[in-house]
Amino acid sequence: MARGHSRHGAHHNLNHFGKELVRRCSAHCELCDAQGVKLKIYEVPPIPADAMLDHCIMICETCYEQIEKPKRLDADHWRCLYNSIWNDTPAVKVAALAMLDQVAEREAWAAELREQAYMEPEEEAWLEELEAL
Ligand SMILES: [Zn+2]
Repeated sequence: MARGHSRHGAHHNLNHFGKELVRRCSAHCELCDAQGVKLKIYEVPPIPADAMLDHCIMICETCYEQIEKPKRLDADHWRCLYNSIWNDTPAVKVAALAMLDQVAEREAWAAELREQAYMEPEEEAWLEELEAL
């Protein structure tokens, strides 16, 4: 079933990206750097019609759940964004900045960090698109 307007939730079978993603993230959560935990593939919206590795990030269940349910977010967990907003992988960076924008609504440290963030124009366009969903 098509879930064209869905902002969250993968609708692709992404398992074939698993190996490559595990290599990229060295089995650490790409957002909070947790290791030794179960990692899931998350597709950074807007979700392309065809599954794209460039839209996938490998994250832990804590990050995953809070991205899915931002109302329940634990701001302290997201201090990990001090590192992840500088990630070399655009999908990680965009996901990190989208979360930072949520946290920045209630936390002064996050609002300050947001001002330091630097994005390439493509990353900025991607983030805008994601947040408009
Ligand atoms: Zn995590």
